[in-house]
Amino acid sequence: MADAEYDLIIAGGGMAGLAAAVSASKLGIKAILLDRNKKEEAGKKTNWGWVCGDAVAKAHLDFVKEHTGLAFSEPEINMVLNKIYVLSPDLESKYPFEGEGAILNRPLFEQKLLNAALKNGIEYEPEFEVEGPIIDGNKVSGIYGKDRNKKDTKIKGKIVIDALGMATTLRRKLPENGYVDRNVDIDDLESTGRYIYTFKADHNDDRFYDPNNALIHLNQIAAPGGYGWVFPKKGSKVNIGIGVQKTSLELRNSRLGKKDTLHSLMDEYVKSNPVIKDVELDNEFGNGMGYWSVGVRRPIESMVFNGYMGAGDSMMMPNPVSAGGIGPSLSAGVLAAETAYKALGSGNTGIDGLWSYNIEFNRVYGSKTGGLEVFRIYLQSLNNENINYGMKNFVSRDEAENLTYGRPVELSFAKKAKLVLKAATNVRAFSNLVFTVREMRAMNELYARYPETPEKFAAWKAKVKTEIEKAKERLKPNPV
Ligand SMILES: Cc1cc2nc3c(=O)[nH]c(=O)nc-3n(C[C@H](O)[C@H](O)[C@H](O)COP(=O)(O)OP(=O)(O)OC[C@H]3O[C@@H](n4cnc5c(N)ncnc54)[C@H](O)[C@@H]3O)c2cc1C
Repeated sequence: MADAEYDLIIAGGGMAGLAAAVSASKLGIKAILLDRNKKEEAGKKTNWGWVCGDAVAKAHLDFVKEHTGLAFSEPEINMVLNKIYVLSPDLESKYPFEGEGAILNRPLFEQKLLNAALKNGIEYEPEFEVEGPIIDGNKVSGIYGKDRNKKDTKIKGKIVIDALGMATTLRRKLPENGYVDRNVDIDDLESTGRYIYTFKADHNDDRFYDPNNALIHLNQIAAPGGYGWVFPKKGSKVNIGIGVQKTSLELRNSRLGKKDTLHSLMDEYVKSNPVIKDVELDNEFGNGMGYWSVGVRRPIESMVFNGYMGAGDSMMMPNPVSAGGIGPSLSAGVLAAETAYKALGSGNTGIDGLWSYNIEFNRVYGSKTGGLEVFRIYLQSLNNENINYGMKNFVSRDEAENLTYGRPVELSFAKKAKLVLKAATNVRAFSNLVFTVREMRAMNELYARYPETPEKFAAWKAKVKTEIEKAKERLKPNPV
């Protein structure tokens, strides 16, 4: 392997990297998959395990099947999920969010992806630490790192797919360039933590636990700038956790005179659930408890550079509202490998040879995320009272569902004339929602005109940044 040269290097074997590996190996690309984990721990994110809520929409699993032929069933699918519901802080409003899906057994799911790629003949180097990109001129031409014996190793490749997740050592060490941003705003990250528990249900109350549906609790005191979730698993098990935005947590603590941390809020969230009782950590695969972070913004505007493509969390792909990142990671991994195949065939692995990946990913998934990011920024500007009131009065169930899909709805003071805007704070919240919907529409229009070539990218990106900055300027975090 040392000093070897590949057509494609896939750095990181999580959801995105493994999906890329399945696709690349099926297409017969001369590729190598590198990951720091041992083979039997494929996809483990950190020492805390496969930290995730494990819920994914069926459409993304179908996408993998259509493109690679790989189908999923038990045991890597732990259970089928009917819906995800979002509840208001007072639990009086409950709206559906996203359609049919599945709860995964993540360790088994990623093992299945790895086995499929190995069966197709992918070359695989586990226990390999990727430290950075090799740069030749203005092009990524491989990676450097340490092999399992801690030996410094360089691997050359015509294309590198960065699938290293949130803490990527590749994107952050790219040369200064106008395409792939190396840094992101900390307000666009959620710190998250979750438990997997076996429990006894004290009584039935589907506002707190629902054996067939996933629940999301919006609550700016319990999970400032984020939300809490209760996702069922087969056999009286539950995946329960919270995500918080750092700025919102600090504001909430200082305004309430508290010193809560992500961990204390996680424990409080579990304790305050009246249905989930007698909890016992389910530590199968050492995966019972863990923390990690998720990006909740639009994906990095260009996910390609000369010789470089990114997929999954390394590109901030999770849905800005739900933080669902499994689906986009899988789809992006497949699309990245397919684009690499075409670029290698044409002999053009520079930015213009890889550009179609940006366009394809936006077509399949990414184009709604700019608007969803604005909606997330709006949600973070509301306190519990605003959310309770807004979910009852500002939007119908259908309108709320449309917004969570990134589809702006028709809203205006005139249209909602019957609204009883009791307090000034609710008038402001409604007028901010009207602004948000307008901005969502502007973002959707911008993404519908995603540049067809790299030359037009700088002007387009500047417009996207202007819209996001406008939203951040008007809608500041305001949890209490
Ligand atoms: C608490 C929590 C709950 C979540 N809940 C959900 C949910 O319910 N549904 C959903 O869709 N999404 C959820 N997400 C997001 C989802 O887990 C991620 O979007 C998804 O795992 C991203 O996949 P990835 O392959 O990009 O990155 P990762 O899964 O992080 O995989 C990266 C891989 O690269 C390896 N790696 C990293 N750095 C190096 C290095 N330097 N050298 C070698 N190898 C390296 C890692 O070991 C890992 O195998 C959640 C996230 C968190 C933190």
